[in-house]
Amino acid sequence: MFCEPAPLPAHDVIGTLVLREQATTLLNAMRVTLPANIFIGLSAVGLMWHWLPHVSLIAWAVCLVATSLARIGYANRADRMGLTTEAPDDVLRASWVGALVSGLLWAGFLAMVFCSDSLFHPALQFVICGITAGATIQGTMHRASVWAFVIPVGAAHFIGLVSQGSLAGWILSANVALYAFMLCRASSLSERGFVAAIRVKHEATTLAAAEVQAKETATAALRQLEYVAAHDPLTGLSNRNAFKASFETILHRARDRDGEVVVMLVDLDRFKAINDTFGHAAGDTVLMEVARRLNSCLKDGDIIGRIGGDEFAILLYREELDGEERRVARDVLDALCRPISFGARLLQIGASIGYSHYPRDAQDVEDLQICADVALYAAKSEGRRAFRGFDADLRAVADSRRVLELDLVDALLEGSIEVHFQPQMAIGNHRVCGLEALVRWNHPNHGWVPPTEIVAAAAATRQTEALTGHVISASCRMARALAAVGRSDIVISCNVSPAEFGHFSLAQLMVDKLKEYGVPAASLGIEITEEAMFSDERGGEDLRALAALGVKISIDDFGVGYSSFGSLRTFEFDYIKVDRSFIHSVADSAGDRALVQAILGVARGLGAEVVAEGVESAEQVAALASLGCRFIQGHYVSAPLTPKALMQWLSAGNGAALPMVSAGQRRVEA
Ligand code: C2E
Ligand code: MG
Ligand code: MG
Repeated sequence: MFCEPAPLPAHDVIGTLVLREQATTLLNAMRVTLPANIFIGLSAVGLMWHWLPHVSLIAWAVCLVATSLARIGYANRADRMGLTTEAPDDVLRASWVGALVSGLLWAGFLAMVFCSDSLFHPALQFVICGITAGATIQGTMHRASVWAFVIPVGAAHFIGLVSQGSLAGWILSANVALYAFMLCRASSLSERGFVAAIRVKHEATTLAAAEVQAKETATAALRQLEYVAAHDPLTGLSNRNAFKASFETILHRARDRDGEVVVMLVDLDRFKAINDTFGHAAGDTVLMEVARRLNSCLKDGDIIGRIGGDEFAILLYREELDGEERRVARDVLDALCRPISFGARLLQIGASIGYSHYPRDAQDVEDLQICADVALYAAKSEGRRAFRGFDADLRAVADSRRVLELDLVDALLEGSIEVHFQPQMAIGNHRVCGLEALVRWNHPNHGWVPPTEIVAAAAATRQTEALTGHVISASCRMARALAAVGRSDIVISCNVSPAEFGHFSLAQLMVDKLKEYGVPAASLGIEITEEAMFSDERGGEDLRALAALGVKISIDDFGVGYSSFGSLRTFEFDYIKVDRSFIHSVADSAGDRALVQAILGVARGLGAEVVAEGVESAEQVAALASLGCRFIQGHYVSAPLTPKALMQWLSAGNGAALPMVSAGQRRVEA
């Protein structure tokens, strides 16, 4: 799913590219030098016509023209056949062999000149001009061709002059030798320069290509993460967070345009029994088929989400629904009551449906959901395989939900809301480096209330500031207790819900509490979901103020939020907490490992650390360590503990340092 950026080509690959460039340039140069070579050769023959035997001259001219034409022909053919790309080595070799043959021919010409009586004839100037032109043009890219041409000609010239035995001959031969040496050396230097320039050009091009590919890979990885964050991987439907976001948007639109919205909750009957009896593969088949059938009952633009294991939700938005929700509910029910094939079997499920209507039943997302939930509960208690809309008879039940909200006010005042702490540990040295503060409420009638419901109830009753203040106070007290036992290095993080930003200044609340308890800001942190991070400008200001104080900032449940990853650049944060849904199968799912690895990559790029949440087994720890994850939280280290139990846990030597005790010993139940 995710691939590594393409590696830079190895040196031999760049070397091949350089050879190709050399071969191409050399062939082009040959097409210029060889006609000139023929012209100079024929001119030299003309000049020597009266001095040398005609037969020799004609034979020589024929050889020179034939060689040059053959080399031009080869250059054209090599180009046509793509030899400069396929076999640049061969082209270069053929080129210097051709140059050698030409050089030997010219050497032969000189020998004829020196053997005649025509010493110092102007024909010699042609030879000098010829080798200079050829060497200069070819010398820039391939010294072997230059040497092969210059050395025989220079040698013949040298020997011819020396054999004259005169002082002038000796002086001239020394000059010829120096001249040939300079041409050879210049060709070596210019070939080196040419190769270096081509190499730099290719390295730059390859680097740019690698960079583009790395960027494309990263973008694809981020897109994949964003998709994963908003969708249920099994059915491809919107997940709970994405569904809620769509619900907010659609309700907003309906308010502006006087539209109508229906939210419909669909709960499968017998799903658990199918999963338990026929296994997860059967469960997955059912869920995928349900998603397909739901889609077939709805129109384009209707939204479907999988909001729980076997819970689905549907949003209908129309200018006027005109009772369409009843038809949709009936179609969905009929569709889901038809058996689903699984191999040779037919699996029979059913469904119950509850829905509520905006603006008739409630005005906001939370209340509409409560109403739909109450209607669903009523449909189930009426014997399942039924649908029911919210109505006046159900109002009382919905209202009783709010009792919890009312009780929360008293619970906060009485102090019956507790805060438990769960340790976070560094994998490397097995030392506890942080605690997460988690709110707990044991309601006298309802028992333990899930924290998410406490938080929702606080938001509904405008008690969020009081609840958060309560949790921060408990965290400050814990920080003081830790400092007293020499563990002031442990950072305690409080969860902050999206609703908190915008309603009060979290930074101010934090400053007040730190002052009240005399605790340094570095002892505390906050955990926010991605959604909270970007929901509001005020949230941004608060975050910046908290970061400036030195409070550690973590992004919670990373990967299951729905914010744009690009926005991560907007704020500074210290930790990314990878949601436990990615950790669950990290030891045996290559896909989850790839996702965690991608998140680690994103965090590393942004200078943040990663904490893996919900770590429960040694296999998960080993898999995370192998990916480079340094911090973990979860039942493998410890369940959340009361302040008293936590201090006892620490004083028993847990989370202090190496050596690490076994998972069984370490596990302490709350
Ligand atoms: P969270 O911040 O992601 O907290 C971690 C949750 O994972 C906790 O659930 C914790 O008990 C649970 N957990 C930890 N280790 C494991 C494990 O190994 N396996 C499993 N299956 N679960 C593990 P909890 O306490 O039910 O809290 C649920 C959520 O409620 C928290 O998720 C947090 O978002 C919210 N929450 C809790 N306390 C507060 C609070 O004081 N304020 C706000 N705004 N939200 C809170
Ligand atoms: Mg948290
Ligand atoms: Mg979390």
